[in-house]
Amino acid sequence: MTNVLNLIGGERVGDPQVTRRNPADPGEVVAVAPSSDASDVDAALTAAVEAQAAWAAMPAPARGAILLDAADLLRSRQAEVAADLSREEGKTVAEATGEVRRAIDVLRFFGSLGWRASGEVLPSAMPGTTIFTRQEPLGVAALITPWNFPIAIPAWKLAPALITGNTVVLKPAELTPLSAAHLSNALMEAGLPAGVLNVVHGKGSVVGDALARDRRVAALSFTGSTGVGLGLHRILSERRARIQLEMGGKNAYLVLDDADPAAAAKVVAASAFSLTGQACTATSRVYCTPAVLEPFLDALAKEAETITMGPVVSEQQLAVDLAAIDTAKTEGATVVSGGEAPSGLFLRPTVLTGLSHDSSVVRDEIFGPVVAVFGVDSYEEGLSRVNDSRYGLTAGICTRDLNLAHHFAAHAQVGVVKINRPTTGLDLNVPFGGVKDSSSNTFREQGTAALDFYTWSKTVYLGHG
Ligand code: NAP
Repeated sequence: MTNVLNLIGGERVGDPQVTRRNPADPGEVVAVAPSSDASDVDAALTAAVEAQAAWAAMPAPARGAILLDAADLLRSRQAEVAADLSREEGKTVAEATGEVRRAIDVLRFFGSLGWRASGEVLPSAMPGTTIFTRQEPLGVAALITPWNFPIAIPAWKLAPALITGNTVVLKPAELTPLSAAHLSNALMEAGLPAGVLNVVHGKGSVVGDALARDRRVAALSFTGSTGVGLGLHRILSERRARIQLEMGGKNAYLVLDDADPAAAAKVVAASAFSLTGQACTATSRVYCTPAVLEPFLDALAKEAETITMGPVVSEQQLAVDLAAIDTAKTEGATVVSGGEAPSGLFLRPTVLTGLSHDSSVVRDEIFGPVVAVFGVDSYEEGLSRVNDSRYGLTAGICTRDLNLAHHFAAHAQVGVVKINRPTTGLDLNVPFGGVKDSSSNTFREQGTAALDFYTWSKTVYLGHG
């Protein structure tokens, strides 16, 4: 068991009270963390404001060197950090190792960007004048993160915020304090100055809310559920802070008759059941054209039997998953595979069919390993079903028809389209984000596009001669 403390002004402070147990083995306490209040948020923001000018004045390559050293430290601890992440969040050790590697690579990617020139040099119509732009940091960024990628998401927000000269207050999910502590430990040991990164543990409705309401926060980046994100949007709409919301999904896959059913089932099983279905990008609706429906369902049921999943994250999440399966049964759905939790928080990968398109099981995000399969008459109907959702994060299509694949890429109302690949799994160098109620759809995360959210552009006219 590890006591996790807040990080405020370079000091580890707070009174650990909130217990996090291993979802695979609830007898084991993994971490105990503080239940902070608005006064802790105030102290963290004070420290972040004080540290910001000196941090921004440090040459960007020197800021980057700290991120690169932190990456090396995390790499040297990869096995330990992945084991803790798996015990804390529940994903398998292999999945946890992949996530820690992602956090390391994100630190390396943004650390290296310290050497990249920022801004542009532009011609002027005025004689003897050169124009250039400077990308300036916003100030203090508040980052509010979910439990499902407890080290990768904090890393992919922190790294672009820090490399551009902002200071940060991070509020990690209450369920996963230890993974966030591994990240902040590596950064502090790599030489991050006091106050540049502050971490405040506690309830979202207390710590997250206090952050959102504080006018010293120049930018708030949130990843989590749509309900909470829209609430934060309402709070921040009353002032001119910058806001980035990445929220829920109800991602769909379209399988066409020309697809190999076995290959499509592998893609959809990876989309729906990797990470125990607890990925914002997970597929939870599948639409099949007539000839492929039956062979695809058979193949998907077989895939579901062979997949290895960790437990769901909490009793509360298991109750949500089981309630959705009960609702489906009450509404007359057929459970093709799974549908039960044989031990503890381990739910079997669940495939449902025979649901109405209007069912809450199909319309609302469940955030578990539950997928509903439908037949559709044509590609056109399938595309329209894919788009019939308040969400718009990811969508996929299995087909060998390049024309339809391109048509789908152009017309699917989502931020990320996958063709013959799982909806889960993202490269770190490309923009990521959704549309509709999946996102504020303002600034993208990941890749160099992520820098835009944390900077503003100043234009300088330089007269010479
Ligand atoms: P959540 O309940 O919305 O929580 C996300 C974060 O917000 C947590 O740190 C939480 O704190 C905090 N929070 C809760 N209530 C708050 C409030 N009133 N004010 C400010 N902050 C508050 O989401 P989750 O259950 O952790 O994560 C699952 C959700 O995240 C799913 O909907 C999933 O689709 C979404 N997600 C989206 C993406 C994406 O990129 N689009 C990626 C991953 C996950 P507590 O820990 O105290 O609750």
